[in-house]
Amino acid sequence: MPAEFMNGTVLSREIVAGAAKRAAELAAAGTVPCLATVIVGEDPASVTYVRMKQNRSRTVGIVTRHLAMPEQTTTRQLVDEISALSADADVHGILLQHPVPAHIDERAAFEAIAPHKDVDGVTMHSFAAMAFGEPGFASATPGAIMRLLDAYNVDPSGKHAVVIGRSPILGKPVGMLLLGRNATVTYCHSRTRDLPGITRTGDIVVAAVGKPEFVRGDWIKPGAVVVDAGYNPGNVGDVALTEAAPVASLLTPVPGGVGPMTIAVLLDQTVDAAASQASG
Ligand code: NAP
Repeated sequence: MPAEFMNGTVLSREIVAGAAKRAAELAAAGTVPCLATVIVGEDPASVTYVRMKQNRSRTVGIVTRHLAMPEQTTTRQLVDEISALSADADVHGILLQHPVPAHIDERAAFEAIAPHKDVDGVTMHSFAAMAFGEPGFASATPGAIMRLLDAYNVDPSGKHAVVIGRSPILGKPVGMLLLGRNATVTYCHSRTRDLPGITRTGDIVVAAVGKPEFVRGDWIKPGAVVVDAGYNPGNVGDVALTEAAPVASLLTPVPGGVGPMTIAVLLDQTVDAAASQASG
């Protein structure tokens, strides 16, 4: 039987509707949630992503403040601007669009985001909270993946989860979240030997590589749950969808899987941040 698709578009609408309701309640009580977006340079994909996030924010009742900085911005200048947003009581959440130009120390810039405004879950504080199972903001895409799995009743406990990719914003944190839910986690990366063989042992496979159709159908164990976090030019994911669909039991499509869920989690966490800052 071909895989069922995990519909991130429908599920994200439910999350966004809930966030909009809570944002309206907050606004009625005097706090309009505000998300500050920061972009450095003019990478077209990043510009598009930020615009999408701003547009979706407005539909939820979140106001946005946008800071576009030139390509030649220094780490110091970026850190100063983000620190100012962190100190601004009218701003509840801060999103620094990844990636920043190579000459900038991205980690230093992320760390200038105050933890209580880290609605994209990119700081070391958020990562540590997630790793220790303490309250905090999940990294947005990993959080989105866990919500998709929950919505489709996939319990990671006892399952072997193979995560392909170990970036700080995606591979590493999603592995930590799966571990926190009692999966046995294997991380794979560019130095992994026999990637197809290891992937074939996965009950849950998360592809977070950034290479179109990299994971082939014959790498998938029959009945596995496959989450494609990749998003490559031409709306193509990291999994060869037509090959994987006859083998997997559940599969996220690209587009319409993890992508819309990531934005929904960002907006949901922005409203959470505004609510907790409003209550002091
Ligand atoms: P990244 O920072 O470039 O990390 C890619 C990871 O893939 C690295 O850990 C790398 O290993 C690994 N890798 C590269 N080539 C490999 C190979 N041949 N075999 C095994 N592993 C390999 O990318 P990212 O930021 O995590 O993003 C990954 C993908 O997710 C991209 O398509 C991106 O667009 C997408 N994404 C989607 C969303 C969303 O909202 N849906 C959000 C974020 C990212 P090394 O560590 O050894 O180099």
